[in-house]
Amino acid sequence: MSHFTLKQGVLHAESVALPAIAERFGTPAYVYSRAALQGALQEFLDVLAAHPAGDGALVCYAVKANSNLAILNLFARMGAGFDIVSGGELQRVLAAGADPRKVVFSGVGKTANEMKQALDADILCFNIESPAELERLNEVAGQCGRQAPVSLRVNPNVDPKTHPYISTGLKEAKFGVAYDDALALYRRAAALPHIEVAGIDCHIGSQLLDPSPFVEALDRILALIDQLTAEGIRIHHIDLGGGLGIKYKDDQVEPTVASYLNPLLDRLAGRGLKVVLEPGRRLVGNAGLLLTRVEFLKPGEGKNFAIVDAAMNDLKRPALYEAWHDILPVAPHAGETRVYDVVGPVCETGDFLGLARPLAIAAGDLLAVMSAGAYGMAMASNYNTRPRAVEVMVDGAQAHVIRRRETVDELYAGEQILPA
Ligand SMILES: *Cc1c(COP(=O)(O)O)cnc(C)c1O
Repeated sequence: MSHFTLKQGVLHAESVALPAIAERFGTPAYVYSRAALQGALQEFLDVLAAHPAGDGALVCYAVKANSNLAILNLFARMGAGFDIVSGGELQRVLAAGADPRKVVFSGVGKTANEMKQALDADILCFNIESPAELERLNEVAGQCGRQAPVSLRVNPNVDPKTHPYISTGLKEAKFGVAYDDALALYRRAAALPHIEVAGIDCHIGSQLLDPSPFVEALDRILALIDQLTAEGIRIHHIDLGGGLGIKYKDDQVEPTVASYLNPLLDRLAGRGLKVVLEPGRRLVGNAGLLLTRVEFLKPGEGKNFAIVDAAMNDLKRPALYEAWHDILPVAPHAGETRVYDVVGPVCETGDFLGLARPLAIAAGDLLAVMSAGAYGMAMASNYNTRPRAVEVMVDGAQAHVIRRRETVDELYAGEQILPA
């Protein structure tokens, strides 16, 4: 169920009309629905609660998808844990009220300081991505007088040809430990004095709309667990990563969480493994939109441009990998429908939010760039000295600012002119 709906032809977030939000907070603005955020997490919790293999399971929201404190706090209140990839994200989740015992730490380049910070916070697990990282963690844990709980992030080598959705995921060779090297690295981990083997972990890619590669990956991981068990290396939890996709476009079919998770849980039944999941996009992507106003219409010979006040610095996904976001008029407009490239004011040809979109619009109209809750604000920059957008969360009939718009002064507050 969408929490962004048309009422009398005007697009609303829950019960709040988007023009009222633009009026009150200005544009560009990220607008989130509390009910949509909570509903997305609840879908995971319900499926896990209904399956015996979901007993004791932990949903660790992948913070990098959207790290606003209000969103983290809502998820923490619902019992979620967090998947972090930096010391900064650790500080953030703790500030948002996270339980450190529900935090897993992923990422290929953890510094000694970040490791120490996470050991001091007593997090649940380090997801180890290389032999060198394992050695460093052992050393740092020794200096801190601690045992570091680890899982190895194993790359299960799921055939990309049969599953084109994840083919880009498998090119990311910098992630994880090769499947064939995993056993030896587990032996090493078990032998290190300041390391404690806790689990096993994989994350095969992002925006998967076909859940079958997850099953294939799990089967490979389970085979590895059997080998480890035979060697007396006990695995307590299995972290299946994130990656479940969302619907960005009408012709896409979004798998339900049940259709993704139940086949995995069925395979895990009776094994006594605690399940950890790291969904990012799926929890926030369709719970947010980017509200923007048309500044100018610029008709051309070959192309018509709608120049809006949001740009690639606000939402990078279209420029970065030609990602599609639906762009909807917020209120009906009587004018003629034309085909527009919806572009921002940034001085880059790649600065577009959507290409060749049929729209009936005029200057001053509002547009909603849909499905912008994940990897939207989190990837925003200040390119062209553009203050980052305000973030607003709608809760029923209320709209709350959860991050105020930046000011230009703030953008150069840390800069210094040389002495005369
Ligand atoms: C990015 C990432 C996730 C979340 O991926 P989504 O596709 O947003 O669900 C989970 N785990 C790890 C290790 C990641 O890098």
